[in-house]
Amino acid sequence: MQDTVDTEAPQSDMASQAYLNQLKATFEQLPNDIPLLLFTAKGLEDPFTQANRQVIRAFRELSDRITMREYDLDHELAQKYNITSSPTLLIAPERYSIRWLGAPMGEEARTLLETLILVGLGQSNLSDQSLNVVKKIDSPRNIKVFVSPTCPYCPQEAVNAVKAAIEMPESVSLEIIDIQSAPELATQYAAQSVPQAFANDVLIGQGAQPEEVFISSLQKLEPQTVFIPDSDAEVVETDLVIIGGGPAGLTAGIYAVRSGLRTAVVEREALGGQVATTPIVENYPGFTSVGGKTLVDIMVSHALQYVQIFQGEAVVDVQTGNPITVLTNRRKFLTKSVLLSTGAIHRHLGVPGESRLSGRGVSYCSTCDGPLFKGKKVVMVGGGNSAVTEALHLFHMGVDVTLIHRRDKLRAQDFLAKQLSDNNIPVLWDTEIKEISGEHRVEEIQIVNNKSGETSTFKTDGVFVAIGYTPAVELAEMMGLEINEDGYIKHDGKHRTNVPGIYSAGDVEGGYKQIVTASGQGAEAAMTIFEDMINPYWLQ
Ligand code: NAP
Repeated sequence: MQDTVDTEAPQSDMASQAYLNQLKATFEQLPNDIPLLLFTAKGLEDPFTQANRQVIRAFRELSDRITMREYDLDHELAQKYNITSSPTLLIAPERYSIRWLGAPMGEEARTLLETLILVGLGQSNLSDQSLNVVKKIDSPRNIKVFVSPTCPYCPQEAVNAVKAAIEMPESVSLEIIDIQSAPELATQYAAQSVPQAFANDVLIGQGAQPEEVFISSLQKLEPQTVFIPDSDAEVVETDLVIIGGGPAGLTAGIYAVRSGLRTAVVEREALGGQVATTPIVENYPGFTSVGGKTLVDIMVSHALQYVQIFQGEAVVDVQTGNPITVLTNRRKFLTKSVLLSTGAIHRHLGVPGESRLSGRGVSYCSTCDGPLFKGKKVVMVGGGNSAVTEALHLFHMGVDVTLIHRRDKLRAQDFLAKQLSDNNIPVLWDTEIKEISGEHRVEEIQIVNNKSGETSTFKTDGVFVAIGYTPAVELAEMMGLEINEDGYIKHDGKHRTNVPGIYSAGDVEGGYKQIVTASGQGAEAAMTIFEDMINPYWLQ
C-alpha cells in the first residue's frame, strides 16, 4: 500500500482530477476511521468557522472514513476536551491529542491532509533516526505550533509535530494554532513569526526544521540546529546529487533525469527557495502575474514527474573522492557528481536588537508573517525589488507600512517604484536603522538620516528586512571550493567549480539572481554534468 502521497496540489483540471483520484485511492486503503470534532461558538459565523466547514467538507468527499460532528462550546464534550475557543478542531480525539485552533486554510490544508492520512494509517511514519530519539522522551510534552495559511514553511513544522503526537499518543499533545484566528495567543507567546514551535511552553523551533532536528529539539526541550545521524544511514547510489531545491536545483533535476542520470534533489527547508516567499512574480515568461508559492508548486509538480526529492533533509557533510559521499541527517548518498544550488540566505541588518527580537517583530518573510501585522504599523527596510514588492504586499494586506531606504534612489525596477508612489506608501529616504528596541517585542526603532545626521525614534510594531541575500556557501567552503571576492562560488562558463565533479548553479553563483536565470543555469549545469559524465574533462 502506498503510505505517502504527494500533498502538493497540481494545477490543471486534468491533473487535479487525477490527483483527487489518487487521494481517494489512498484514503480507501487506510485501515482506521478519522473522526473530526468541530467546536464552534453558537451563532457565530466567522470566516474561520466557515472555512473549517468548507475544508472538512472537501476532505469528506474523499472518503467515508472521515466523519465530522459539530458541537457548541457549551456542549459537555467541549468540557470533556477542555475546549475554550472557537473554532477548535479535534482529530480522532479518542486516540490522539491533536487540536487545531482556527482553520486549516491555504498552506495549512496540506498539513491537515497529511494529518488525516497519518491518523487513518494509525502510524507516524517517523524516520528510523527520529524513532531512535523519540524512545528517549520519558515525560509529557505539550506542543504548540504557530502557523499561518500563507506560510509555505509551516506545513513541514506542523507535520513534524503531528508525527510526534501520533507516535506517542500517551505523552504528546499538540495544538496547531493559526495566528490569525488566535492573535492573543500568538502575542502571549510573542510568536511574531511563523512557524514557531513550543514544547511545555519552551521555544523549541523557529522556522521549518528537518524532522529529526524537530524531534531532537522536542526531546531536549531546546532548539537544535543540526542532527548528527547514526552511522547505519541508508545508502543511496546516484550519478548526481543536487543540493538545494530552488528554481536552479529543480530545473537541473528535470534536465539531468531526462539525460538519463540517476539524480536526487536534497532540500533542507521549503522547496522553491526565495521564490516560495515572494508574494507576486510578474516577470517569469508564461505568467503575467503569479504568486511565488504557486509558481513553486507548479515547478515542484513538474520536477516530481522526473526526479526524487528529499525534502526536509539537511546535508551535514560532503566528502569528495570517488565516489563522492553526501551525508544528510537521514542517509548517505554515494554519487559521481554534486551540483550546489544552495541559493542565498537573508542578509541581516546587524544592528543591536535585531537578533534578540527576531520572531518578536523582526521578520525576513512578509508572506509568512505579514498577516500578524494587519492593522498595525511596520517598516520595510531596503530599496531593491524584494523590499518594494513586499511593501506593496503588506500594504494591500491592510498593514500600515513605511519603507526605509539608506539612499535617495531605489534600486527596484521603475515599474515597482511607480506602484509604491501610486499607493502613497511613505518612504524615509537616506535613512538607516541604528537600533531596534522593545522589551518582549519590537516597540520602536532608532533611526538616523545619513545626510543630515539627525537621529529620531520611530514607533513601530514590526521591522521587515529585505536588504538582499548572502550566498549560502558553507558547504562549498567545507568542500574546499574556491569562492570569489564577492563571496559567490567561483565557476567557469560551464558551471564547473575548481573541484572535479562539483558544479554550481543559481544565486550561489552570483549574477542576475532572477528566477528565469537560475532555471537557465540549472539546465546548463545539468547538461554539462551529463557531458562530463560521458567524457570526464579532468581526465583529458
Ligand atoms: P538587492 O537588489 O540586492 O537590494 C538590496 C537593497 O537593500 C538595496 O536597496 C540596498 O541598498 C539595501 N541594503 C543592502 N544592505 C543594506 C543594509 N545593511 N542596510 C540597509 N539597506 C541595505 O536585493 P533584493 O531586493 O532582495 O533582490 C535580490 C535579487 O533578486 C535582485 O537581483 C532582484 O532583482 C531579484 N528579485 C527579483 C524579483 C522579481 O523579478 N520578481 C523580485 C525580488 C527580487 P542600496 O540600493 O543602497 O545598495
